[in-house]
Amino acid sequence: MASEHELEDVEGVGPATARKLRKQGIRPSDPGCCNPFELSEVAGIGYNVALKISQRARELVKINLVTAGEVYKRRQLAQKITTGSKALDALLGRGVETQAITELVGEFGTGKTQLCHSLSVSVQLPKDRGGLQASALYIDIEGTFRPERIVQIARRNDLDAKKALKNIIYARVYNSDHQVLIVDKAWEVCGEKNFRLIVVDSLTCLFRKEYLGREALVLRQQRLNSHVHKLLKLAEALNLAVVVTNQVVANSGQLFGDLNKPAGGNVVAHACTYRVYLRRGKEKTRVATMIDAPHLPYCEASFLIGRAGSIMLLD
Ligand code: ATP
Ligand code: MG
Repeated sequence: MASEHELEDVEGVGPATARKLRKQGIRPSDPGCCNPFELSEVAGIGYNVALKISQRARELVKINLVTAGEVYKRRQLAQKITTGSKALDALLGRGVETQAITELVGEFGTGKTQLCHSLSVSVQLPKDRGGLQASALYIDIEGTFRPERIVQIARRNDLDAKKALKNIIYARVYNSDHQVLIVDKAWEVCGEKNFRLIVVDSLTCLFRKEYLGREALVLRQQRLNSHVHKLLKLAEALNLAVVVTNQVVANSGQLFGDLNKPAGGNVVAHACTYRVYLRRGKEKTRVATMIDAPHLPYCEASFLIGRAGSIMLLD
């Protein structure tokens, strides 16, 4: 997006700081630039300096009020990536959307990672086949990415398997700081080339593993909140789809019905644009339910995970 002001116009921002800020996708005309906590963290500068920069930036920023028509125009730029299943695509309103975060949540083995693999290939398909002819960034937190599955899915879709593998940039992540760092780096990587999908599999598991006990809960949720909002900013600014997976935890207050609830609490629930709940259905099927979406109805869809590498529609 074009910037009205250069970062160096902001008093207190030298070339080195400007470089760091640019790498994070921060521009002075971006209202996100006004948050001193974020500035201090991403540019590695003291809070007081960050506060000065953000005050000066605020003077430069024109708070843009736009008509709903302009918002509508921007929404028209959002594109869809097919999941490989017609039923799932219908549930999502033609597929996974750019400018948004889609959360796939469910118990183990419900197909979250399989869907991430399928989407990493289908984003590469031509537009008339439900793709965006683009690359994917795959952030693997659980170590369950399998290139051989990509090969299967690519062949099933008549794509050159070698090219399909090349178009997926992979990062194996080992701790939550590393996870945050990779997403910060994604500004550079995805801004330069044609990336239209970022997968994070799974979003919450490292945060849950590292921040133990009630006393660490507030800090954990703060970090998670900042992380997921950075993902949303990436999705909106670069018009790409972010797909995150999430595990379930026992809902101790629940006596009947579903005894599980998504991990990450309200932070994840509020920040993700679409929340799709996956569970096992009859005879090896998986059932997806759209449980939260800003403009789509509550809906269910069944699908099968295909041996040859497709997520298939069940009649
Ligand atoms: P977790 O929470 O443990 O990460 P998940 O929801 O990511 O679970 P997946 O790894 O997506 O689960 O799904 C695993 C399931 O997918 C397996 O149990 C199996 O039923 C199915 N599956 C995996 N590979 C194939 C394949 N090649 N052909 C058919 N089904 C497969
Ligand atoms: Mg998985």
